[in-house]
Amino acid sequence: MEYRVMIGLEMHCEISETKTKVFSSAKNDFSEYSNNSVRPIDMAFPGTLPTVNKEAVRMGLMMSMILGCSQPEYLYFERKNYYYPDLPKGFQITQETKPAPIGSFGEFVYELNGEKKTARINNLHLEEDSASSDHYPSGSRINYNRAGVPLLELVTEPDFRSADEAVAFLEAIRSIYQYAGISEADSKKGQVRCDVNVSIMDASLDETDSNNWGTKVEIKNVNSFGGVRDAINYEISRQMELIHEGREKEIEQETRRWDEESGTTIHMRSKVDAIDYKYFVEPNIPKFKISKEWLEEIRKSIPKLPYERKETYINEYGITDYDATIIVKDKKVSDFYEECIELYADPKMTSNWITTNLLGSLNKLELDFDDITLTPQMLKELIDLVNSKEISSKQAKEVFADILTSGKTPQEVVKEKGMKQMSDEGEIIKIANEVLDENPELIEKYKNGRNNVIDFLTGQIMKKTRGQANPTIARSTMIKEIEKR
Ligand code: ADP
Ligand code: MG
Repeated sequence: MEYRVMIGLEMHCEISETKTKVFSSAKNDFSEYSNNSVRPIDMAFPGTLPTVNKEAVRMGLMMSMILGCSQPEYLYFERKNYYYPDLPKGFQITQETKPAPIGSFGEFVYELNGEKKTARINNLHLEEDSASSDHYPSGSRINYNRAGVPLLELVTEPDFRSADEAVAFLEAIRSIYQYAGISEADSKKGQVRCDVNVSIMDASLDETDSNNWGTKVEIKNVNSFGGVRDAINYEISRQMELIHEGREKEIEQETRRWDEESGTTIHMRSKVDAIDYKYFVEPNIPKFKISKEWLEEIRKSIPKLPYERKETYINEYGITDYDATIIVKDKKVSDFYEECIELYADPKMTSNWITTNLLGSLNKLELDFDDITLTPQMLKELIDLVNSKEISSKQAKEVFADILTSGKTPQEVVKEKGMKQMSDEGEIIKIANEVLDENPELIEKYKNGRNNVIDFLTGQIMKKTRGQANPTIARSTMIKEIEKR
């Protein structure tokens, strides 16, 4: 029997680009220090009331448009009631799907290995993040910095058939958040968290009928895309094994947790223990009419997104689809590239330097883009030094390795290492003749047809110039000069 894997994603992304939290005036910024950005409402003091942050709503609506969702006529919020130590109010202000969240029923096209795929979006909703618990040897403490940070939750239909598809989708969405100026979407800051739902069905049945779907297992709170990939693959093999052993009845509808350390999923709760959240409309936030004019204004303000930048790179700058894809993957890289172009750097050479040397080095040295001191201006200078033959491309790689993190400019490194390539032909002619004067017997050999002495003689020029002569020019000059003898 053939089987089909079905994966649905719930992706939570904190909005990091508003000044304040979603229902409070506390600062919305990531802080190393506990309880640094907190107002009484974030700690659920009696008598405090929520105020909706219009900027967070604007960003939510923008994301809703980008995902091809429809926007509601009225904005409303609901209470999701449950108790947890890091949820001081005893409820989370969120949006369930009724009457209508900030985005409903969209579609998003992403690419996997150059192939276009479509995923349907069930909904996008705006909510508040909970506080977080920090665990110390002396005990656990609650940090309210995160309480009330605006959070967008995106729920897809079960349209992914493999871990690769799911991760490619998540990466595409993350970069949209960054390009649209909504969020840094940085997993390391805990800004992106995913729940993944996995089931397996008989591939011969009609997948448009949800009665034919397999029993889904939900894996909660996976904190990195690598984790999403591993969790999905683990869960697929766990379920396949049960099916192959004829124990498919043992696949129960449950919530599991991804355990990074063991690389397995662990049972948390089954459907029968499902919490009844007793949703009801949040009475402290009056419903808010979203005007057509405002929506139009937001639509016009959507910045250039990665696929649009990619088109420009391919069609106007003449770089390959492959390179353009690599560059737009991370907004910081794409911004860096565009700054180089604004400085009139050669688009193709710049793209080569970025995709091979820059990203290659970051990967090898396990560095982040934020860790480097290289600026677009420096890269442009380096490319100019190669183009004007002042240094060889081999020397340029050495300079590059230095300026990546040292804070020095290419000119400084070239000077420091005495690296200038000698391209002044007059100078090289002079040295070539010195070499010939010192080796009269080789001139003789050359005249007798021993052409290979040129290699040795060119080597002597390189030696005398301590490697600074341009080797191609040194060689051609030597041939010219020996012929004259
Ligand atoms: P619940 O009510 O349990 O939260 P939902 O219908 O809201 O379930 O779906 C939550 C997520 O689970 C969505 O991303 C959805 O696409 C996904 N999902 C639903 N059914 C399946 C299934 N059979 N296999 C995989 N994912 C599923
Ligand atoms: Mg759900």
